[in-house]
Amino acid sequence: MATECIFCRIAKGKSPAEIEYEDPEVIGFWDIHPKAPVHILIIPKVHIESVEEIQESDFKILGKMFLAARSIAHKKQLTDDGFRLVINYGKNSGMAVEHLHLHLLGGKPLGNMA
Ligand code: AMP
Ligand code: ZN
Repeated sequence: MATECIFCRIAKGKSPAEIEYEDPEVIGFWDIHPKAPVHILIIPKVHIESVEEIQESDFKILGKMFLAARSIAHKKQLTDDGFRLVINYGKNSGMAVEHLHLHLLGGKPLGNMA
């Protein structure tokens, strides 16, 4: 049986989410526990488990995730004051969902970590 994690379910419209962006390969939706005034998760619709599982065949979709993040940042008017893009991996990062996701954070000063 194909893997169907919570983010796969959101991508297929089987679980609710506040969708902010969608194209044929990528979807962006609000984080359920936002850490900033704007906190949106950008994911590939296909299940890529984490940054450790990325293959060369995924390069196009990774680029699309960054373009989607930029497009949302523009739409949310984050470019003047800035924003942060984060990908977590493993226990030291606190990674909780095993489906690759790019956090887009903005709307307040984010501190200087990393
Ligand atoms: P990470 O720690 O990088 O794995 O981040 C996972 C993020 O997914 C966390 O910020 C959670 O708040 C968020 N999250 C988990 N489940 C959902 C959901 N069903 N809808 C929206 N965001 C979620
Ligand atoms: Zn998944």
